Amino acid sequence: MKLKIIKLLLLLLIISITASSQEKIVYITRTGEKYHLEHCSSLRRSKIKITLSEAIKKGYEPCKRCNP
Ligand SMILES: [Zn+2]
Repeated sequence: MKLKIIKLLLLLLIISITASSQEKIVYITRTGEKYHLEHCSSLRRSKIKITLSEAIKKGYEPCKRCNP
């Protein structure tokens, strides 16, 4: 019985990790071709919130400075 509960909890944990990694938030700028983490200095001019998967889908590349 206990083992079943542990398995269920593990499954829930895996689901939540997968879901959160898909919804990782990054930031793009109006003119740039890179996506950034929130604190990156490249985001001073403009800062557009976007999910990581959406940024990759649109052809953005990771910033070398903040390494998202
Ligand atoms: Zn950056």
